[in-house]
Amino acid sequence: KIPLYNNDGFHKKAIDVLKKIQKNDFIPKRRKYGTPFWVKPVNDWGFIPTKNYQEGQFEYADAINAESMQKRIVDGGGACWNCVIACWNKSSIKFGSHKGVSLVGPEYETLALMGSNLGMKTIEDVAYLNERCNELGMDTISLGGVLGFAIEAYEKGAISKKDLGGNDIGWGKAEELARLIDDIAYRRGKIGNILAEGVKTASERLGKSSGSYAVHVKGLEIPGYDPRGAFGMGLAYATSDRGACHQRAWTVRAEINDPELDRFSFKKKAELVKKIQDERAAFFSLVLCDFAPISEEDCVDMWNLATGFDHTVESYLLAGERIWNLIRLFNLREGLDPKEDKLPKRLFKDPFTKGPAKGILLTDEGFQQGLKEYYSLRGWDDKGIPTKEKLEELGLVGYILDK
Ligand code: SF4
Repeated sequence: KIPLYNNDGFHKKAIDVLKKIQKNDFIPKRRKYGTPFWVKPVNDWGFIPTKNYQEGQFEYADAINAESMQKRIVDGGGACWNCVIACWNKSSIKFGSHKGVSLVGPEYETLALMGSNLGMKTIEDVAYLNERCNELGMDTISLGGVLGFAIEAYEKGAISKKDLGGNDIGWGKAEELARLIDDIAYRRGKIGNILAEGVKTASERLGKSSGSYAVHVKGLEIPGYDPRGAFGMGLAYATSDRGACHQRAWTVRAEINDPELDRFSFKKKAELVKKIQDERAAFFSLVLCDFAPISEEDCVDMWNLATGFDHTVESYLLAGERIWNLIRLFNLREGLDPKEDKLPKRLFKDPFTKGPAKGILLTDEGFQQGLKEYYSLRGWDDKGIPTKEKLEELGLVGYILDK
């Protein structure tokens, strides 16, 4: 065991931070509902993925939201080891053909991607599919994206019933989708094998215009916040190191609450995305949970007390920026073309037909302008490559790329 630099000071600070967490306004909601809390607001705001991202509001959202979960399947709470927030929901299905199936969850992302995105009308169906994924070790965001894509491809003729071995999949058809999940997990049949590769490769192999509704960034399926309702999420997904990940920069809170920001515009989003990306890169390096409301100042105090360093908030955020540049260099070295900093076609051409984001589309001009500003703020060139000057400033001289 490595001793802490200042054991007493660290523990005193940790107690102080825990007290602040307990007093945080949002913690009671997080403890009571967990991440499913977000189903209602994101649906109300009109950007919950629905039927393969064709819509941003789901007609059965009330059936799969946090209240419905509490009433119908939640047995109690729980927590990761020693966590004072305790955001888990321990659930079990109480009736129907899957009575007795138990799990921790579903989380918001599962309710969005395997709920509204697949047209599921009951919380039990989402819980059932969630547990099937748990059993098989499959990610519910990516798989939800893949299944939504598969249903639309089936409806539009890019996948036939014969391809599916007679499985008549469709929106809200939990049993048929559970069967397809097994086919994907075991790469059974032509379609199971193709879909196991994810939406990007599946659309490339299927062809038949399926690329027009293949929703992913850099091969990673989009999580539970459709950028047509919060443009900052579009810039966050496009510039994320691993594709469409909501944990690299979650701009939703700022875009909804900050009166200075228009959620249907790319203006001022480059600055917001960069700031959150750098902060999260530093924060996650301290091995903290994404949901822990700990200020930058408290993070730095604990870091210094644990290690004996003498960091400031400025140098902490600079560490985040250094990480972000290092990852960019890693991706460039491994052949990830910066041209992949882009978004799926659907977001630019298929407007929602209902809700507050009805009729809204991203524009290529707005997105390119946002991307240009982002590269400039990062000190990268106009192709998205870190400049020699920026790398020198960050102390990353040994990583300067040969052009
Ligand atoms: S560590 Fe994070 S995910 Fe785990 S119970 Fe606490 S808040 Fe929830």
